[in-house]
Amino acid sequence: MTADVTDLMKKLVSLCKRRGYVFQSGEIYGGLQSSWDYGPLGVELKKNIEASWWDFMVSTRPDVVGMDSAIITHPDVWKASGHLKNFHDPMVDCMKCKSRFRQDNIEGDSCPECGGSLTEPRDFGLMFKTQMGALEDDSATVYLRPETCQSIFVNFRNIVTATRQKLPFGIAQTGKAFRNEITARNFVFRSREFEQMEMEFFCLPEEAEKWFEFWLDERLKWYRELGLKSGNIRTRRHDEGELAHYANSCFDIEYTFPFATGGWGELEGIANRTDYDLKAHIEESGQDLSFLDQINKAKIIPYVIETSGGVGRTMLAVLLDAYREEVVEGRERIVLGLHRSLAPVKAAVLPLSKKLSGNAMEVFDMIRTLFPVQFDETGSIGKRYRRMDEAGTPFCITYDFDTLDDNCVTIRERDSLDQIRIPVETLAEKLSALMDNGWPAG
Ligand code: ATP
Repeated sequence: MTADVTDLMKKLVSLCKRRGYVFQSGEIYGGLQSSWDYGPLGVELKKNIEASWWDFMVSTRPDVVGMDSAIITHPDVWKASGHLKNFHDPMVDCMKCKSRFRQDNIEGDSCPECGGSLTEPRDFGLMFKTQMGALEDDSATVYLRPETCQSIFVNFRNIVTATRQKLPFGIAQTGKAFRNEITARNFVFRSREFEQMEMEFFCLPEEAEKWFEFWLDERLKWYRELGLKSGNIRTRRHDEGELAHYANSCFDIEYTFPFATGGWGELEGIANRTDYDLKAHIEESGQDLSFLDQINKAKIIPYVIETSGGVGRTMLAVLLDAYREEVVEGRERIVLGLHRSLAPVKAAVLPLSKKLSGNAMEVFDMIRTLFPVQFDETGSIGKRYRRMDEAGTPFCITYDFDTLDDNCVTIRERDSLDQIRIPVETLAEKLSALMDNGWPAG
């Protein structure tokens, strides 16, 4: 990692702690490696990302339904999916000839086939194991899910029966997944406990390619709507050697994570998983998971287009994209230029002096049930502005001594630093317009 990259990541991690976005888990005991706790602003940002995803993928679509499955899953699910088979094998890939090896079968750090460099070891199936019930023998062994999608496949028949969906349709869920990653690092980019946002879209096999392209476009659109700069995201097709065993084609949506090898790191995978998973579960369970195609009056196993992203990685991309340092009117400031829809706090009410706190609190009370708003009376007004800039708060509302006479407050916008002065009674309406349309509104 170059000095600049380390520096940027250090600064971001430090800001995240300072402003209450992300803390090292178990910090007072020395910290649990690669485990992160989300603070008051972090949890809001995470929820805003998830809510935006749910809205885009589920609520606004007639052809996608949601579900929320158990984290502790029947062990046979992981037998059928192939995860159990690979449970203990750390794998390394040759970056040149794409050969794959068990790390414990090779010596040194270069490929035994061609001498090329090897990737860091990684394991497809490193699941967290635990016991269910009082017994501690093998029959009680269960696993924390390493991905959310398998519960969608095993509930396929239940959902078809309950919702009477016709092909094509999707099933979506967000939730925690657990992987005992061999090399967990780079802040929330790779942790052992993380949240996924996954959607499995079931369709006729002959339409799979069309839907694959559709969903790739849609997912890109979503990342752009979050405000990520278009030059910082790209798509990359997996080549043959890189494809997962269940997929016949896959694209990654990548972001310019500063620490990523080659400059780009995966945000999300879009894969054509064919009928691999449903077939595997039919075989393992002996149950009929086919779909009755009403038009051809035939039972078919649908193909599946998967979109699979992570909340933590999206959040990290959003934070990196938004982070900037600048000098304004001779003063340095750090700004998180978060899109207003993602900003954890939308506005802050700041009395110019503590003497005005009582009156300013009345203004705060007027709007605090409409938006996530903070009240801050501590420190100089400049310091308070800078705290809000760092937290990514788009608007500051300043209550000054003139307000006592003219009953007007000043709204200051985070990025342009432009200010407007408006009557207190129009504040709620004005803020709503700013949330909808951005600055300047009206
Ligand atoms: P990578 O190649 O980076 O390990 P992956 O291909 O194993 O990722 P998938 O199994 O496709 O990842 O998981 C889908 C998404 O879940 C990823 O695109 C990523 O956003 C997220 N994700 C996967 N593993 C982790 C992790 N250890 N920490 C945080 N997010 C993760």
